[in-house]
Amino acid sequence: MNMDVLVSLSKRRGFVFQSSEIYGGTGSCWDYGPLGVELKNNIKRVWWRDFVQNRADMVGIDASILMHPTVWKASGHLDHFTDPMVDCRECKHRFRADHVDELPWTHYCPATKGNKFTIPAGEPCGHCGQRRTLCPECGKGELTAPRQFNLMFKTFMGPVEEDAAVTYLRPETAQAMFVNFDNVLQSMRLKLPFGIAQAGRSFRNEITPGNFIFRTREFEQMEIEYFVNPNDKVDGRPADEYWHDRWIEDCMAWFRRYGLAADNLRLREHERDELAHYAKRTVDIEDRFPIGWSELMGIANRTDFDLKQHSKWSGKSLTYFDEERKEHVVPYVVEPAAGVDRALLAFMADAYREEEVRGEKRVVLKFHPELAPVKVAVLPLLKKRDDIVRTAQTIRVDLAKHWRVVYDDTAAIGRLYRRQDEVGTPYCVTIDVQTVGDSERGEVGDLRVTIRERDSMEQIRVPIAELSTVFRELLDGAPWSQVSGRYPSPRG
Ligand code: ATP
Repeated sequence: MNMDVLVSLSKRRGFVFQSSEIYGGTGSCWDYGPLGVELKNNIKRVWWRDFVQNRADMVGIDASILMHPTVWKASGHLDHFTDPMVDCRECKHRFRADHVDELPWTHYCPATKGNKFTIPAGEPCGHCGQRRTLCPECGKGELTAPRQFNLMFKTFMGPVEEDAAVTYLRPETAQAMFVNFDNVLQSMRLKLPFGIAQAGRSFRNEITPGNFIFRTREFEQMEIEYFVNPNDKVDGRPADEYWHDRWIEDCMAWFRRYGLAADNLRLREHERDELAHYAKRTVDIEDRFPIGWSELMGIANRTDFDLKQHSKWSGKSLTYFDEERKEHVVPYVVEPAAGVDRALLAFMADAYREEEVRGEKRVVLKFHPELAPVKVAVLPLLKKRDDIVRTAQTIRVDLAKHWRVVYDDTAAIGRLYRRQDEVGTPYCVTIDVQTVGDSERGEVGDLRVTIRERDSMEQIRVPIAELSTVFRELLDGAPWSQVSGRYPSPRG
């Protein structure tokens, strides 16, 4: 799967546009278009439903992006949220020191009179055998020694731009769950283990953003902080370790449930020397993105680091009273942290198929119906027939009370189907002469319409009066075969 294909489909069909494109674009910021926003909202909605709404041990919050600056001192972000950066002395291009060798590099080869080559990442030149030492971009400049660069966006609170007014755009949503720990605990009278979830924007001044929406400077996260009593044992194991494994399994199952193929997903255990300063153990779920295996989400055991730090810096106690042992404990926390944009990219890449149908290429996004931006497209077979158009529009209005439904009559039916396939619409409804009849010929309509299923392209004839029930069943997860068996196929 090629990233360029996705980028171009995204633009052409209204999923993702370059931000401020008419001004030449903003560095690695992207705008979600009419279909992209539906897809993104669907991802967040099912995540919230599965991990918050359906669980008795979870609650949610929606905190502000600007927080007290001391939050970032306590969390360690001011001191540690840095990446090593190197600059090219010639072209001034800036790279993440740990990413330089992952880039294809420009080389003026001395063995071929200085001819210019672009050599794949990490490989030596096939002619002179040299490895990269200079800037991978221009192939001429030396790179500076690595310097630490803080990834937080700084801004000022209030009208005066002075040091005392400096604040930051949050680089992760997690800290709001820690600083609100006691508010949530007291207001909701919770018992350990319990979790707090939040989905929202985060900002990182990434040194080398790129690869479309994979790494951007403004993105959305869906994070959970799951608090456990470190003195408890579950199945004979410390509660934090047990719950860490449970969350890894649950998150993996979640991505598979909504369409990511098992062989496009894998777990990666962080090595000791790569663990964040707060983490006891971290496991990433990696996806086989168009750019290769990369992190989709991380699930970390952050121990009691955050609550203790915030307690120290705020002077407020952030503990839980263990009734059984009659003692105050600082809970451990397991953090499943996912990126919405990365999840969207993974779901899109995995859903993308090019198929051949009767000698023609068909592009189809095989989205899980719950994620599909549009659930049903209503298509009149003849747009010149008023009664057909009217019936189609009434059906759209009716179905749109429950789902995102579109009406389209701007092309012939074959092309309309292809358009819907390309954006992943699971069902099309067509209204034809048979539906409404032909009064001039004295023929009455059968008041049935054709439903076409995206993946099998099978069609069934369903009474208009039963459409809502049928779609409720299908969109609640019933397999197509269960429904299609009850209805005849169209004539002819
Ligand atoms: P990376 O190593 O790719 O920079 P990270 O390990 O710093 O990511 P976390 O801090 O664990 O990322 O953030 C949790 C999740 O948030 C990531 O798994 C990813 O899905 C998402 N995320 C992080 N940074 C970005 C970004 N710049 N653009 C888009 N999504 C991001």
